[in-house]
Parts: sequence; C-alpha cells; structure tokens
Amino acid sequence: MARYTGSVCRLCRREGAKLFLKGDRCYSEKCAIEKRNYPPGIHGQGRMRFSDYGIQLREKQKVKRMYGLLERQFRSNFKKAAAMKGRAGEQMLILLERRLDNVVFRMGFATSRSEARQLVRHGHFNVNGRKAMTPSMIVRAGWQVSLREKSQKVERISAALDTVEGRSIPQWIELDKDNFTGTVVQLPAREDITLPIDEQLIVELYSR
Ligand code: SF4
Repeated sequence: MARYTGSVCRLCRREGAKLFLKGDRCYSEKCAIEKRNYPPGIHGQGRMRFSDYGIQLREKQKVKRMYGLLERQFRSNFKKAAAMKGRAGEQMLILLERRLDNVVFRMGFATSRSEARQLVRHGHFNVNGRKAMTPSMIVRAGWQVSLREKSQKVERISAALDTVEGRSIPQWIELDKDNFTGTVVQLPAREDITLPIDEQLIVELYSR
C-alpha cells in the first residue's frame, strides 16, 4: 500500500497547520510550524493564491493527513458519513475520531496517530476484552479499550502514558492509567474536535 515516507513536518508546513504527526515534538518549541510557518520549497515564502477548488483541496488534504488516511479510505469514510443522519461534514469528522487508532492516540497510549495505528496492528489492545487489530474499527459509547497484559511492559507505551497530561485527554474519553484501560464514555460531538477544520469545504469538494 502506498505510504508517505518523507518528512512529516513538511506536510504541516504545506498545510499551514499543526497536524500532530510527530509525537511529543509537536507539543514542544522544536515544532517546525513554530519555527518556520510557511510552505516548504523555494517558493514557500512567496504569495500563494488559491482558487476555490484549491482551498477545498487543501482542507481535504489537511484532514486526510492529520488522520493518516489514504485517499480511498478518506473518501469511503466520507461516503459512510454522507449516508448517515445529520450534516455530512460533521459526521465525517466524528467517524474519524471514533476510529480505534485515533481513540488509542486520544487515550494516551501513543504519542501520534501513526504510532497508535502500528500498535493496534501489532495486537497490543483488547476492545471489550477481545483482541482487536483493525485500526479502522469504529468504537461505540461505553466501549473499553485496554492494553493487553503482555504489552504493559512495552517501553514506548509506558513512555507515552507518562506524558499523556501534556497532550490532554478529550472529555468523551476516560483513562484509568493504573489499569491501562480507557473508556469511551460518550460519542464525540463536533465541539469536541477542536482542531482548526472547516469540514464544509470538504463537503463542497466532494459534491463537485
Ligand atoms: Fe512536525 Fe508535529 Fe510540528 Fe507538525 S505539529 S510540524 S509534525 S512537530
């Protein structure tokens, strides 16, 4: 499967926003956006003009990169959201937040979504007591995500949990750090997603 292997900070600079792709570094002053908040490349500091299509495309790329999805996965997530009740853009963001890899990241077991995805794929978690290895699994209210016993000694997971306070856990999630378990106490609402996203632009792009 195609995978981006270049510098992830370049992606943030391209989108002009923090996409939180590099773990704890994103929360420090070493973040590239803090130091050089302009697009990479020799024309990066020049004036950029975008058409309506360009603006919509950039917004979609931003969210896609933030959640680490490929175009096909992102579009299929949008289609699912569009078939649900409510506003397609909002539902799309809520579905993205409910993905198991995002939930593992939000609970603090990993410092980035890509790390969380890898941990899920490697079978480190149980969902409601059963091993779950599918990062795209959509969690429901009341579900419990716990670190499997043999994974409780994995150093990078303990290190991520040690710094979880600095990343802040959203209020729709509860973490029981001592028991390596997190609970989805309620489904996330649009207001819980505080990242700077204008989802309407993505709806407009996909409605063309
Ligand atoms: Fe790099 Fe993270 Fe800053 Fe993005 S938010 S530029 S990934 S350090």
